[in-house]
Amino acid sequence: MSRPRPLAILGGTFDPVHHGHLRAAWEAAEALDAEVRLVPARTPPHRPPPVADASGRVALLRAALAGQDRLALDTRELDRDGPSYTVDTLASLRADIGPDRSLVLLVGADAFAGLASWHLWRDLFAFAHVGVLTRPGTTHPLSGELAAFIAGRRVERLQGPAGQVVDIAITPLDIAATAIRESFAAGGEPRFLMPTACFADEALLAPYRALGR
Ligand code: ATP
Repeated sequence: MSRPRPLAILGGTFDPVHHGHLRAAWEAAEALDAEVRLVPARTPPHRPPPVADASGRVALLRAALAGQDRLALDTRELDRDGPSYTVDTLASLRADIGPDRSLVLLVGADAFAGLASWHLWRDLFAFAHVGVLTRPGTTHPLSGELAAFIAGRRVERLQGPAGQVVDIAITPLDIAATAIRESFAAGGEPRFLMPTACFADEALLAPYRALGR
């Protein structure tokens, strides 16, 4: 029997989704030969509320992901009450896929450097590997606690279902949702930073356009 592909997840606010997210997810899918799911957060801890509500962000994600099946959408955090702790999401995914399939949490290198502040962060490794999305030429120093914990877990190529750390080099695209929201707020039209499909239905963009009124 052939092994199932690894399952990798990229969490975020996706307010709105843009080519930086999509290209990073795509390159991770290729590097790991994985299925990648984008997992929008409902109530992200430590952040102001998103401009678009959950259904609006999901609608834009669906539009962005149409026409391919390598990247998918997973709305489990939106279906859950309370804060979206990553460790809970990974436990839920692990329960769905069983103990053997490789599960990979994708995080940017900057977020990874702050991992030791996440809720129950050591437990993440019981459920999943961590794939660190790395921009060539940039470094993010790790705290002693995190460095000590991951020493011996770093690998070139993931093996087994969970517990390791791998760097995934991605093409840097200097696109951020903050800049896209600022463009809308200034009455601009941030085309080609987001998929063209996201501009096909004005109703999907209404919360962002409203920033400019
Ligand atoms: P904001 O500007 O609102 O903070 P964002 O564009 O950084 O948003 P998030 O929804 O916070 O988007 O990001 C979700 C995930 O995608 C994070 O892990 C983040 O590191 C990653 N990401 C965001 N933008 C890029 C990019 N341009 N290239 C690679 N990864 C990105």
